[in-house]
Order: sequence, then C-alpha cells, then structure tokens
Amino acid sequence: MSMLKTIFSPIRIGKMQLDNRIVMSPMEVNQVAPDGSVSDAMIAYYEARARGGVGLIIVEQSAVDPRGKAALPAQTAVWDDAYIPGLTKLVRAVHAHAVKIALQLGHSGRQTSPVFIGGQPPVAPSPVPCPVFKAMPHELTGAEIEDIIEKFGQAARRAEEAGFDAVEIHGSHGYLVAQFMSAYSNKRTDEYGGSIEGRLKFPLEVIKRIKEKAGRKYPLMMRLAGYEPVPGGRTIDETKCIVPILVEAGLDALDVTLGTYANIELLVPSSQVPIAFNVSSAEAVKKVSRVPVAAVGRINDTLVAEAIIAQGRADLVALGRALLADPDLPRKAKAGALQDIRRCIGCNSGCLPVSPPPPDLMWRVSCMVNPFAGREMERVVVPASKPKKVLVAGGGPGGMEAALIAAQRGHQVTLWEKSDRLGGQLNVAAIPPYKQEFAEAVRWFSTQVRKSGIKVELNREVTASAVAEMKPEVVIVAIGAVPLIPNIPGIDNPKVVTALDVLAGKVMVGDKVVILGGGRIGPETADFLGHQGKQITIIEMRPEIGLDLAMGVTPFLMARLIKYGVRQVTSARVVEITDDGVTYVTGEGRRETLSGMDSIILALGAKSMNELGKQLTDRVAELYVIGDAKEPRLAFHAVAEGAEVALKI
Ligand code: SF4
Repeated sequence: MSMLKTIFSPIRIGKMQLDNRIVMSPMEVNQVAPDGSVSDAMIAYYEARARGGVGLIIVEQSAVDPRGKAALPAQTAVWDDAYIPGLTKLVRAVHAHAVKIALQLGHSGRQTSPVFIGGQPPVAPSPVPCPVFKAMPHELTGAEIEDIIEKFGQAARRAEEAGFDAVEIHGSHGYLVAQFMSAYSNKRTDEYGGSIEGRLKFPLEVIKRIKEKAGRKYPLMMRLAGYEPVPGGRTIDETKCIVPILVEAGLDALDVTLGTYANIELLVPSSQVPIAFNVSSAEAVKKVSRVPVAAVGRINDTLVAEAIIAQGRADLVALGRALLADPDLPRKAKAGALQDIRRCIGCNSGCLPVSPPPPDLMWRVSCMVNPFAGREMERVVVPASKPKKVLVAGGGPGGMEAALIAAQRGHQVTLWEKSDRLGGQLNVAAIPPYKQEFAEAVRWFSTQVRKSGIKVELNREVTASAVAEMKPEVVIVAIGAVPLIPNIPGIDNPKVVTALDVLAGKVMVGDKVVILGGGRIGPETADFLGHQGKQITIIEMRPEIGLDLAMGVTPFLMARLIKYGVRQVTSARVVEITDDGVTYVTGEGRRETLSGMDSIILALGAKSMNELGKQLTDRVAELYVIGDAKEPRLAFHAVAEGAEVALKI
C-alpha cells in the first residue's frame, strides 16, 4: 500500500474533477502529423500516459494561429475547425481510461523563426527580437491584436467541441501572452503596454474571449512563469500582483513555471538543476491565488511530489519528463511500488535534440531510460512466437534493456558481464558533479534484471569458445567501447591516463593536468578535478569546448570551469607528449608547448569493441551487435538498440 496519500486525493479545477493531483505537463514532442493534425502515434503516446493513471493530461502547446507556430517542424494545430475530428479522437482515447484531458493553447509570438511560419517575420507586442531566433518581429497593430484574441477564443471553442475537459493558455516561457505581460518584451506605449494594467490587457481579453466562446463555466487554466530571470523580466513580486487579477478574470487553476527562451536551461532542466527547483514559485503564487496551483520543474521523485502537496506548497504537481521516463509512474506510486518507477535522470538525451540541435530540429522525442517513449506504436512488447536461448554479452544499459525485453517476451535469457557489476559506462557517467542521478538508472535497470528471472553471471567474459560451449540461438553483443588512444609520439608515457580511469577512481592524477579532448567527457572530467583544486588545461581540436554536452548542461558546467580557472586551448591539435607536458599546433599553425604537467588525461572519444562480433559471425544463428560495440555514441542509442533487437528476436 502506498504511503503517498496526498497526491492521490481528488481535486477540482472549476467544474472538472480530477481523481489525483498528478498532472502531465504539456510538452511538444514532435509526434503530430506534418499538417498539425493529431496522428495515431500522438494518440498512442498520450494513451500510454492515460493508462498509467495520471490525473490530468495537458496536451502540448497547440497553435491558435499558423503565424504563431513554434520553431518545430510540426506543431499541434487548433486554428481551424478541420482539426476538430483528430482532436476528438485523441480526447476519446484518453477518456477511455477515465483520465481528464486539457488542451494548451499557445502563440509563439516572437519566439519562433520565419523558417517555420512561411518566411514571414514573427509577431510581437514590440519590435524586439527574441535573443534565440533573432528575427525582428512585426509589432502587432490594434486590429491584429484583436484578431489573435479572437483566435484564442475560437481555439477554445474547438477544444470544447472536441470534448476536452479544459483548456490552458500558455502564458509562460516567453511566448506571446507572456511577451505582453512582461516589461522585458513589451515596450508598447498604447493601451496594451506600460503599466502592469496595460500589459495585462491582452491576457485579460484572451481570458474573456475564451469564456465567451467556450462557455463561462468551461475550465480554464494558465501556465504562468513565476519569474523571468532576464534583464527587466517579471519578478515573483510582480507575479503575485497579477495572479489575483488573472484569477478574478476567470482562471480556474495556474501551472507555475519560470523563464523564457533566454533561459532554455531552466525550461528543460538537466540534472545540473536541483530536483523540484521551482516549487518556491508555485508556493508564492498559491499564497495569493484562490484557485488551485500546480508546481512545475524537474519533479521526478514521487516522495518529493507528495511532500510538495502535503506541505501545502502547491495543490497539484505537473510532471513532464518524469512521465516520459515512466508513463506508469502514477499507477506504480499508488501501488507502493516506488522501486519500480523508472525515474527521469535529467540526462537531456533522448527527450531533446542533441546539442547543438540539428538545423531542421528533425528529432522525435524519446527517452534514454525508456526507449518506448514516443515509439508507442512501433515498439510493442508481444510474446515471442518461439522462445529462444538468448545470450546477452555485456551488462551496460543497452545489454540490460535487451535482456529485459527479451525476458519479457518469454525468451530464456543469460547475461554475462565481464566486470563485477552491472551498469557499464553508466557507472562512470554518474561520477562527475551533478550527474549522480545517473546511478539511479543503473539501480533501476539492475533491479529489474534481477526481478525478471534473467540468469546474470558477473566476472564472466564472453569469448567465442564460451559461446560455442553454451550454444545460444541468439547472441546480443553489447560489450561497449574502450577509450580512443591516439597514435601520438609519447602516448606510452606513464603520465598518460584515460578520463574514464580518472573518473572511475582507478588512477590518481597530479596537481597540474592537461586534458586532451573537450567534447563532453573532457569538460566533465575538468569539472570533477576542478572541484579538487587541480590546475587544468583542456586542449580541443574544435573551436569550442563542450560541443557534445547535452542541451541545458553547458551554462552550468562552463560557469564552474571558469570558476576553477580551467584554461581552454581550442582549435589546437596535440602532436607530441613528453615527460614534461604536451606540444600542440594552434589553428594559426604555431607550435606551442605546455610544460610542467603532472598528468595527461585522454578524453578523445571511444573505439568500439567489435572483435567479439566479428569472431561470432556465422557461428550463431542470430547475432546482433548494439550500442557502443557497434558504434560509440550515447547510452540513449545503446538502450534504444537493445529494445529494438529484443523486440525482433
Ligand atoms: Fe529524463 Fe533523460 Fe528521459 Fe529526458 S531522456 S526524459 S532527461 S531520463
């Protein structure tokens, strides 16, 4: 029986009754059809979360106006009646699980790119460019403002006709409604600008029009930033002034976030940001609100969620990526099976494009720890037609996922791991500062492996002869990669160590170190050693360091490297290692030497361990090589390939 009583108590938002207080946050996940209509994949994605027992699903921001589309290849559209049938289908799929569903209505304003809105400039309260997309927006005229207000009203009417239980105005993240409310982006001198009263005129008219078009009692929520950490942005004190006015105008609940696109690292916070970091915003708003308030922001722990509500800091908790990682979180929490919840670890790999994002942003949401997220239609676990004897070589995340899914399908699975514990590279990934939550993924995977009847043998290296003796019908090679050792004169110097060995605590380094490679592991190792007071230089071939870090990590990690005085040498190629240090060639072709180094740390990437795969070719009926053993990449890829292979054997 669960100890989580408060989050499972019912609550009302206007006339909408929720069975529990867990809300699925609106997240744009690129599942929608290219024309903005609801796709079957999108329905399957939301239906999985409804099946998991969440109290309310708020469907991702849906554009009320084609010119207000977000900078995404496709965004859910609600600007025309033609979208109502698809939205109705989505509502029915969620209602089939007795879960309430709301539609978030939004207009990006200046926070989009002409690329995504037919080449025309974006619109905004004032001609002030978004600091991210940088296009000069068109300053809205009074008639154009009235047109957008009507579009919000019509969009709400469509949502109501489609059967949504409520709508939510996106008034946060620096989108159009937020742009009007904030002196940071609203420089108007007419009735829609200036004082708080003027800046509130647009959202108040939007609220009024929604009530007129969708019905006075139709539940209406607003996502609102508690504060905007940008120069001239709204403060929490100002938010506390505007909330009672917005509520009086007709809001039935508030969903309290923070920030704008200028603070993207806080909108999609990684593990660099503390768990539940923004609850104080909800708490402040709750003090001045007579309607329910939801807390938002990296709430990935059900005990924390319970405490937020039990302590009266908020009335609801809005979980986003926690429900990507485990759509069944509410159901498991209610049953008291907290250990079985697959927690979002804040890795920002899978739910976001890699950093830097591809220019066309063509990625589909998924999740590092849950490869089924965003692939609900393609990746379906069904019993195997013929159970097979399966050997998984390697107990890293990819190997464990493959073993788990194969076992769930009824195969007889054995997992051999060369080291004395499961987890592979994730064990090391959890060592640098602010990455300790990666250990939670190791815990989850290994707990599930233990519970699933898989025969696990640690300290067991997979060799071709051992495989021949065992005679498996399927071998999945997931033995990972080894650090890349470049062919540089002096590479055999005893001062040379690998970043992985440093992080794993296998070697000690001296006080003055140089790290070769500044993509991801190099800066993370510098972060780890900087905290220990080491003098560090990073040498990177590319023009910047940190180019391989996950989105949202860079500002935090780089600030610490600056604090530690880490020297960065970029556009440089190391040509020699000596007893004293390293020699490198600069981008301009100058040869320079870094002397007096105690240790030289290699963080130059990895090399696949693909020998076993080659040896086993034609020796087993089915052979698959996955993850880093196939090609060194992220754990996200290894886990996804583990699932894919296990689903087809
Ligand atoms: Fe969380 Fe990582 Fe999954 Fe994103 S990819 S939802 S950050 S665990």
